[in-house]
Amino acid sequence: MSTVGLRRYNHQYVFWQPHTSSAWHGSKPPMTSEPTGPFFTTEWKQRFRRRLRTWYRQAARDLPWRASRDPYRIWVSEIMLQQTQVATVEGYFKRFIDAFPDVQRLAAADEQQVLRLWEGLGYYRRARQMHQAAQQIMADHGGQLPQTAGAWRRLPGVGRYTAGAITSIAFDAREPILEANTIRLLARLLVLRERPTQAVAQRKLWAVAAELLPRSNVGQFNQALMELGSQICTPRNPRCDACPVAPLCETRERGWQAKIPVATERPKTTHVCEAAVVVYRRGEVLLVRRGEDERWAGLWDFPRFAIDDPDHQQLEEHLVAGVRQATGMLVEPLERLTTIKHPVTRYLITLECHAAKYVRRAQAKRSLPEMQWLVPQNLENVPLSATGRKLSRIVAKR
Ligand code: SF4
Repeated sequence: MSTVGLRRYNHQYVFWQPHTSSAWHGSKPPMTSEPTGPFFTTEWKQRFRRRLRTWYRQAARDLPWRASRDPYRIWVSEIMLQQTQVATVEGYFKRFIDAFPDVQRLAAADEQQVLRLWEGLGYYRRARQMHQAAQQIMADHGGQLPQTAGAWRRLPGVGRYTAGAITSIAFDAREPILEANTIRLLARLLVLRERPTQAVAQRKLWAVAAELLPRSNVGQFNQALMELGSQICTPRNPRCDACPVAPLCETRERGWQAKIPVATERPKTTHVCEAAVVVYRRGEVLLVRRGEDERWAGLWDFPRFAIDDPDHQQLEEHLVAGVRQATGMLVEPLERLTTIKHPVTRYLITLECHAAKYVRRAQAKRSLPEMQWLVPQNLENVPLSATGRKLSRIVAKR
């Protein structure tokens, strides 16, 4: 027997994967073909659930979205928590719920207002898709939030994890979940040999997440899994001494906590050099809306474009040409304002910021992006890119 998965073994389901040796010195795990241990026998699952439930009753954090089982609040929190820490999300969640307390209010909102409240959380596609999904719920579901994972997954921006989290927590649906914290926890319980991003690992993890579910209180169980992963079974130096499922964990027994989950190679950082130009015209500054295929799509920004070399002797000519191409306007460069360094995903952006004076329109508006002129005091009211917001603070003080 050579492949991995849940198999029947001694009249019980066990998790079967290739290994026997407890020695693991290189980067690759040892591979043979034996079941890893008494995982997921009925007794193992019962002990696991009991220990997890008891621990969660006293360890669950008091988070704002846990105050009720309102599917709308759970949906908002789950979308915000994707790729984002709980501590960062808390303030955003409260402000968002204050502004849009239900799906009706969210659907009726202007997208700019939604993006302004999301500004700083990153991954703005999440906010735009949630806004579109709210409109779809109004149109297709009469404003009632769906109760099944299948119906949720037909909405923009809702994947298997989010649908499972919303329906299990709000409606106690028997749906598994898998996100960063549970992936790490389950990978360690399984002594998972593959990178969690691999398709075979994903299949195993989803199978195990489903296999572990209790018959009732599923939402609480799923939240407890996430809480254990985030509070105890942390990426570095997991707190095995305080872990309620430590006696059931083979990774701890083998001392492989630092090796599991097997690390995914991080993409190398790419350095990008760009220029942003604050164009002035009669006390107002020019903003350009970022296109669908650009970073920060849907948000506003000062005209910006790639430059090869910020110390280039003909930088002024580059700025004039860059603004003309981005906006169809002719400008006269003024002074240099600042340099902003900003990391975003795998990029490190160096943004050279300059001021310029509007001279005249050099191109018809056709095929140009959406633009607007604003007095600097009103920059606070529009959703700006991360670097645009930093630059706007300098502009507001000039
Ligand atoms: S014993 Fe350690 S490695 Fe195992 S689940 Fe608990 S915290 Fe994670």
